[in-house]
Amino acid sequence: MATLEEILKLMKNPPDEKGAALIAKSYHFAEEAHKGQKRFSGDSYFLHLTETAKILAILGKGPITIAAGLLHDSIEDAGVASETIEKEFGKEIKFLVEGVTKLGKLRYRGAERYVESLRKLFVAMSQDLRVLIIKLADRLHNMRTLQYVRKEKQKRIALETLEIYAPLAYRLGIRKLNRELEDLAFPFVHPEDYKKVEEILKKKHRETISHLEKLRKTIVKGLTKSGVTNIHTDYRVKGLYSLYKKLERKNWDIDGIYDILAVRVIVPTIEDCYRVLGTIHSIWRPLPGRIKDYIAFPKPNGYRSLHTTIFTGDGSIMEIQIRSEDMHREAEYGVVSHFGYKEKLDIDSIKNATMAWVKQFLPLLSFGEKLNGSASPISTGDVPAWLRELAKIESGKNQHEDFIKEIKADFFKTRVFVFTPKGDVVDLPTDSTPIDFAYAIHSDIGDHMAGAKVGGKLVSLDTVLKNGDIVEIRVKENAKPSSKWLDIAKTTMAKKHIKTYLENHKRF
Ligand code: MN
Repeated sequence: MATLEEILKLMKNPPDEKGAALIAKSYHFAEEAHKGQKRFSGDSYFLHLTETAKILAILGKGPITIAAGLLHDSIEDAGVASETIEKEFGKEIKFLVEGVTKLGKLRYRGAERYVESLRKLFVAMSQDLRVLIIKLADRLHNMRTLQYVRKEKQKRIALETLEIYAPLAYRLGIRKLNRELEDLAFPFVHPEDYKKVEEILKKKHRETISHLEKLRKTIVKGLTKSGVTNIHTDYRVKGLYSLYKKLERKNWDIDGIYDILAVRVIVPTIEDCYRVLGTIHSIWRPLPGRIKDYIAFPKPNGYRSLHTTIFTGDGSIMEIQIRSEDMHREAEYGVVSHFGYKEKLDIDSIKNATMAWVKQFLPLLSFGEKLNGSASPISTGDVPAWLRELAKIESGKNQHEDFIKEIKADFFKTRVFVFTPKGDVVDLPTDSTPIDFAYAIHSDIGDHMAGAKVGGKLVSLDTVLKNGDIVEIRVKENAKPSSKWLDIAKTTMAKKHIKTYLENHKRF
């Protein structure tokens, strides 16, 4: 089990006192809330929460996200009231924990037509990108321990991971998460293909790895000679699932795939990237048509790098990826990590920290910035100075918000996503009503609709449905559509069914 100290150490930007206090408080709160609960693996449930927090720390997330990560199952699995979360940790953390809880209720039923809706819905419901990232971290730890889950459930969870979570991680540009999710899910979804790809990769790996090391050294030498110093190189092995996808596209012709292993050259600036590309091309002949400038033309998920594939001179072919340090961080941890946006610490979220909590985090202060000269907050029973300071922090406009807005703009201009009580997703145009919902499920349901509930409450049939609503249709044998419905319905499909019904049941 990761200790509090370990989690704090993993954070990219060491938290200040208030950040550390917040994480300490949620750490102990979660430990208490899940006391006695066990995972299928036999581990304590709390381990799942500290592991989730560790993943978030590695992804470069701040104290609020990490705290929410520690608390993410406290409503659903420990019966903590969301009011309690708000009282103890503030509105923002409550919002994040509730968001993760809601996402957890979505069920993927493997129906092809739901996949895209479900992905979109995830983003819609996430409102705040952090909800999605916590959910991804949660899923990553669940995938790492999938072998302990009942056999029947394994495949469903793995498939859901491949279809929903991994593509979302990719879309957010968090390649590191995307790769691991895919490779963990792959053997459960396609066990035979997994073995095949593993064999191929093993063989290829042995052939090439020593060669790769030689090439890497030659590159460093060549670049140093031409004045590019301050470079960092390594190599990466293509993920098993990603290789599998490519093999399928190339009819399993392994020799047609040049990027199983790639050398990476990481340099300080963009200009260095192009300089390195030039130098490499002056030493080795590039393969025509395989020079890709993702710096000038980034991939839709924000990925930037220069790729080239060269003849190494001894009959083999190798891909080289060139990028700046910023680009490298973005490629692994997502575009949002780059913005270094500051989470605004909500004063409410930690003002309830008791002295006990504060004492817990005190030994950890060496990781954070030192107090700005003032007296130790511990010595007084009052609101510590640093807590008052917090009130002054302005949120500022951050690009993180723009980013999620952009993603959502694509998806949600014209659609709302609502659920059946079983959790199936129904995708409707905006301003749709329960009538549209009923007909979207089945014309018989529409034709016999007697009423509708949204979120468990009876509503009138002209109620406009909102993203995330759970809609339940009550049906009666003798209920039937009325001509008024034609004005209320939004979808062509509903209108068509209503008209047909009215035509067929005309009274003269
Ligand atoms: Mn969880």
